[in-house]
Amino acid sequence: MTTSSTRRTRIIATLGPATESPEMIRQLIEAGVNIFRLNMSHATHDQVREAVKNIREISARQITRVGIMMDSRGPEIRTGEVSNDLNLTAGQTIGLTVRGEKSVEECSVDVNYDQLVEDLKEGDVVLIDNGTIELKVEKKKHNQLVCKVLTPGTLKSRRHVNLPGVRVNMPSLTQQDKEDIKLGIELGIDWFAMSFVREPEDVKQLKAILDYHNAPQKVVAKLEDQEGIRNLDGIIEAADAIMVARGDLGIECAYEELPIIQRRMIKQCALQGKPVIVATHMLESMIENPSPTRAEVTDTANAVYEQADAIMLSGETSIGKYPVKCVEMMNRIASRIERSGGAGYYEKVKMQSKFAKLVKSAAVLAEECNADALFVFTTSGRIARNAARLRLVSTPIYAFSNDEHLLNQLPMYWGIYPSFLETTDDPEDNVSRAIAKLVGRGLLKKGNTVVAVTEVKIHDRLVDTIMMEQVEG
Ligand code: PEP
Repeated sequence: MTTSSTRRTRIIATLGPATESPEMIRQLIEAGVNIFRLNMSHATHDQVREAVKNIREISARQITRVGIMMDSRGPEIRTGEVSNDLNLTAGQTIGLTVRGEKSVEECSVDVNYDQLVEDLKEGDVVLIDNGTIELKVEKKKHNQLVCKVLTPGTLKSRRHVNLPGVRVNMPSLTQQDKEDIKLGIELGIDWFAMSFVREPEDVKQLKAILDYHNAPQKVVAKLEDQEGIRNLDGIIEAADAIMVARGDLGIECAYEELPIIQRRMIKQCALQGKPVIVATHMLESMIENPSPTRAEVTDTANAVYEQADAIMLSGETSIGKYPVKCVEMMNRIASRIERSGGAGYYEKVKMQSKFAKLVKSAAVLAEECNADALFVFTTSGRIARNAARLRLVSTPIYAFSNDEHLLNQLPMYWGIYPSFLETTDDPEDNVSRAIAKLVGRGLLKKGNTVVAVTEVKIHDRLVDTIMMEQVEG
């Protein structure tokens, strides 16, 4: 049994040079990772093949199921090559050109977004290198922007560019993304995270590719800019899960808006019944240090208190010096904070379908009877998703299925413990064998109470029902 067995909040860890070895993958799973993220901004196809093989082999030997999420690079604006680093000082001017055209300014750099000059106006801000260098557009010339340096810094080759508030006219799926998606489908990964989702259509485009290939993967929409936030409700509707991608959001929006945006996103996901991931800078200082700052502990605790489905590590586990300690730290924080209570956004959620209401009744019964487990049997994952929405603290929810793909997707959902069961068309037999399985694993014992949402046969008819069983010796 790993340390993740009683924690409800899920932990996502990004694999990278610090963690791609089989030994590190094993240690991370034992420390409590539920999902591994493969970041296609950095990983090569060979690395992805190797990582997927290793994760599958190692997780097959563990009780806890582990999912794999492939995170697309998405449309990215970058500066071009500079032969020498540019030391930009406050107040100086710099030309931003496109298509490699010549600049009238002494100091200039090319940008890979051809419509840069058309899309920006005087007074707009350009942020370079994750916001560390800030420029303001002073003048537009026919093929370039003349900018003033507001925040100085050293500009190296191929730096990330953000244009806060500007509608960037780039396709949501680049050629590279499409090739990566093909690979993800071939390797049977579990989730695709789509970068820079700005409208529901972006998600629909990826889903159309998945449908075309008859692929079972689910889609996380990463919200990273103001336009995505404006279209939040529609994007939640279109996607299977949402990521609060605070790295880019913190550049594209004002800093002080970020906590408000995070809260709004978590509340809206609760209402619409989709899982939500809080990502980036959660334990950032642990890239270099063996313990977090007090502010990071409080930030992570806040996401757990708000009952986000998952919290995510990026550089902390991909390139950091203490990847296993980071996961252990998240596990400790999440386990403790869950016991101290939650924000209660989910308590106000109204279940819509009759079936979801049945799951809610089962959860109430399980809590009232101090049940030791709530069982759900799922073929599409919908019942497990509805059960997760109840944010049941006292009773663990075991989701049984005979679909391996689905079982590897379920680690995204708050408090759901997926388990393989060769289900038959005899629901009572399913419940008995599910109990026997958990007794065998030491998760249930004689005298325990189990509540199950299942079907029973009444005069040859299958009826959705709630069963309560006592575990026998
Ligand atoms: C983010 O911006 O917070 C994020 C997770 O995206 P990426 O790291 O892929 O840019």
